[in-house]
Amino acid sequence: MTDSELARLRKVLDGLDEDITRLIARRDAVASDLIRHKDAPPYDPERENQIAGRDEALWLPLLRRVRTAEGARLQQGHPKPGAFPDGQFTLIAGPCAVDDHLDANLQAVANCGLHWVRAGAWKPRTFPWSFQGEGLPGLKRLRAGADRHGFQVVSEVLSEIDAPAAVELVDVVQVGARNAQNFALLKCLAQLGKPVLLKRGPACTIEEWLGAAAYLDGRVPLTLCERGVRGFDPCLRNLLDLPGAVLARRMGGFQMLIDPSHGTGVAGLVSPMVLAARAAGLDGALVEVHVAPRESLSDGDQALRVEELAGLVRELARVPQAAALTPAAR
Ligand code: PEP
Ligand code: MN
Repeated sequence: MTDSELARLRKVLDGLDEDITRLIARRDAVASDLIRHKDAPPYDPERENQIAGRDEALWLPLLRRVRTAEGARLQQGHPKPGAFPDGQFTLIAGPCAVDDHLDANLQAVANCGLHWVRAGAWKPRTFPWSFQGEGLPGLKRLRAGADRHGFQVVSEVLSEIDAPAAVELVDVVQVGARNAQNFALLKCLAQLGKPVLLKRGPACTIEEWLGAAAYLDGRVPLTLCERGVRGFDPCLRNLLDLPGAVLARRMGGFQMLIDPSHGTGVAGLVSPMVLAARAAGLDGALVEVHVAPRESLSDGDQALRVEELAGLVRELARVPQAAALTPAAR
């Protein structure tokens, strides 16, 4: 085949890609409308089966593109409703956990001029003897403290038992990495209606992550967050998958944040990754900060010091936020 014939075929593929993207967006809109107006539980197995039966027409082309990274060439033509303001780079900062330093930590985030705060009240810990978080009383303390500063709150809920009370106290509910495929929790949050920040599981493929997102897609404003996957090098707690974040954003049409605190486990690497995310056209970052990292009951090693957060905020203002970059035709 001549070069010009190949170029023509690529053009045809590009046109078809655009048609598919448009069709999926139209379908999303209709599905969201339908979900909003139906009284039955969101996951009717029979209906889900019918949809699965149509996989070949709907999901498989999408998934094949994930598998071959073909989606890297897709533009995010029709972004879906996310949990954070559109078109801005949202920086969310706060301590790993609600602890005795909460007030000072909130003050520090306020001093940096930020509007979104994070802190965990229920902590998913590797060992049962580690600090488990203050639970609901901690979340109430976080809400009250955040209100004094006019912050919006992102906080994790670990189980569907706590979810109904938690969603009353947060602006965005976080599903943590360990719960990324806790489908019972995802179904529960789909019904509660609060915007969700869905982290990627430490061993989730992009396909699995987008599959988890599908439980919430169209049901709640949804933002995804890349927080590192299991790597091989003990130097780094996790391997922050920046290209995976860009790919999943383009593939799924979701807002995409990174969490370089858990994604690297090293405080000194957090700021460079946030700047990289902004330059790469992602939608924001979630970072841990603590006024006294050594006294933090969890994740002190990866917490920014307050002056580091202030420095990051200054640097961020100097990095232009990439517009959606248009990949060149092959
Ligand atoms: C967190 O953000 O507090 C947290 C526990 O993160 P992850 O679920 O990504 O480990
Ligand atoms: Mn943490």
